[in-house]
Amino acid sequence: MPTPTQNKPCSRLVPSMSWAYPVTGNDSEAAMVQHSSLFVLVRQFFVAMLVLDTWQYFMHRYMHHNKFLYRHIHSQHHRLVVPYSFGALYNHPLEGLLLDTIGGALSFLLSGMSPRTSIFFFSFATIKTVDDHCGLWLPGNLFHIFFRNNSAYHDIHHQLYGNKYNFSQPFFITWDRILGTYMPYSLEKRAGGGLEARPTKDCKDN
Ligand SMILES: [Zn+2]
Ligand SMILES: [Zn+2]
Repeated sequence: MPTPTQNKPCSRLVPSMSWAYPVTGNDSEAAMVQHSSLFVLVRQFFVAMLVLDTWQYFMHRYMHHNKFLYRHIHSQHHRLVVPYSFGALYNHPLEGLLLDTIGGALSFLLSGMSPRTSIFFFSFATIKTVDDHCGLWLPGNLFHIFFRNNSAYHDIHHQLYGNKYNFSQPFFITWDRILGTYMPYSLEKRAGGGLEARPTKDCKDN
């Protein structure tokens, strides 16, 4: 039988839960105002994906172009020559602020999505980023079916001779295509088992 002292931590949860309500919009008035049709939700997701991709492409490419930023900030993420899931967000705190936090805030504000919708969008974007770094090519992976920006595509960017290409992340490859930084790849069987992503064009230094 729990003593009053053992019950104490539970009672402390109540005020902290009330903090969560304004963030999640979990009250009936907000639900009435923010009732969104499926069409609106899809449009907000799509706009947020375009905004996040655009911000991340140019910031990411600039971090490679600017030697100071690359040496002191972005090179930390490129310690992963062979990416793995837990390395997806292994980066310098300033990179997290510049690429992820500001990019996320812009996609949230410009898409007009509600705080509740943003919970799903940012969870989706985070899972997609983790999948892009997982180093696996499993059959039936929905991300690989719907997005050409995938684990093999981003793997090329992490390779020593591929890091001037495939800057686009995390959803589409559009900006790489438009601005000439797209590097096609082939998946080849390795002698020791598994697959290897290989660039199919010559990688130039600049
Ligand atoms: Zn990079
Ligand atoms: Zn990466």
